[in-house]
Amino acid sequence: MTADRARLSPPLLAHEKTAAPPIPKAVITQRGVDRLRSGHVWVYRSDVASTGGAGPGAVVAVSAERGRFLGSALYSSSSQIALRLISPGVVPDFPALLRARVGNAFAYRERLVQDSDAYRLVFSEADFLPGLIVDRYNDILCLEILTQAMDAEPVRAALLAELSERLRPASIAERVDLHIRELEQLPPRASGLLLGSKTSTVFTMNGVHFQFEAGAGQKTGAFLDQRENYAAAARYGRGEALDVFCYQGGFALHLAPRCTRVTGVDSSRPALEVADKNAALNGREVEWIEANAFDLLRDYASAGQQCDTIVLDPPAFAKSRKNLDTALRGYKELNLRAFKMLRSGGTLVSCSCSYHVSEGELIDVVTDAARDAHRTLRLLEKRSQARDHPILPAVPETSYLKCLIFDVS
Ligand code: SAH
Repeated sequence: MTADRARLSPPLLAHEKTAAPPIPKAVITQRGVDRLRSGHVWVYRSDVASTGGAGPGAVVAVSAERGRFLGSALYSSSSQIALRLISPGVVPDFPALLRARVGNAFAYRERLVQDSDAYRLVFSEADFLPGLIVDRYNDILCLEILTQAMDAEPVRAALLAELSERLRPASIAERVDLHIRELEQLPPRASGLLLGSKTSTVFTMNGVHFQFEAGAGQKTGAFLDQRENYAAAARYGRGEALDVFCYQGGFALHLAPRCTRVTGVDSSRPALEVADKNAALNGREVEWIEANAFDLLRDYASAGQQCDTIVLDPPAFAKSRKNLDTALRGYKELNLRAFKMLRSGGTLVSCSCSYHVSEGELIDVVTDAARDAHRTLRLLEKRSQARDHPILPAVPETSYLKCLIFDVS
């Protein structure tokens, strides 16, 4: 089967260099060539000398200005990322290539994901399918389409056929981000079911059960990228624990069996309502508090309240490089407030999902905050995103989650 020969690594697709490409030819500048040569897969609009008349979402053949063929890419007529390389060879049939790569993505998860029926099945560039996210929540799949190429009808049809044949889900839902569609100059469309009629299910990670409702919540449903970090945090959790920015209770519910008391804090009432259902599903007692995390930590600290385990998992403070300084101040403030509440011998799990904040920068601000709070830190674990969110070393944007675990005295 041709499909199965396309492995995770694009160079193995070199056999596809057969007939002359019946596709538009884009020409890129030396800077674009250098970027691709470094292993990255993006070419910015400013590095495209000619699009060769490509239409929105077309598969194009990419060449250097001197004519050397560099591979095939998906073209976007509106994004600053004009080209996303999908193969070093010619791609005569993109829907067929997509089917093969979805198959590879599934095989990768079958190998590497344990103790969970929920995981990211397709992680865009990191699965060589730029612009496509597919998450699995037990028997419901939820997909997000982020680019013109992935939105094309034949591509959607191939995706649905492959997902339904391979995984036999009860249903497939699509989550639409209207802002992204606008940026990609795609017509608006509604979130909803693409296949089947089942909209809710229960999924399980590390033995902990969670309610899933298609079309509700943030992300496609849950923060699957933290799955392995939940299990890690649970190994250190003890005494009284606080899960700050708890969303639907991922950390709190993993800590509950190990701790004498667990409190989850979030500003979103709908998230806490699901968290409460999740606690009931697992027969656990967790106190959920709807509050601004910064205010609550300050009030607790000034009331002299203390605890033994704190998880901080805030939303991305740095949405771009421009507000990095403000973001770093936010992380420092948050960690400082946590240190004021932690008992000696306590554990701090400090996360950041801002791509623009590096692991080193996060360690520095936490260390700074500890110094201000006169606390001593020992860094127990430097963790990242779960393995179903693979990282391509040559594409730094695929690596974004940091999860640091500290012993605090
Ligand atoms: N720890 C969660 C994911 C957290 S995502 C998990 O593992 O599932 C970030 C959360 O922070 C969101 O649920 C959002 O509602 C919440 N949030 C954002 N700003 C907040 C604030 N100022 N105070 C409290 N919660 C906040």
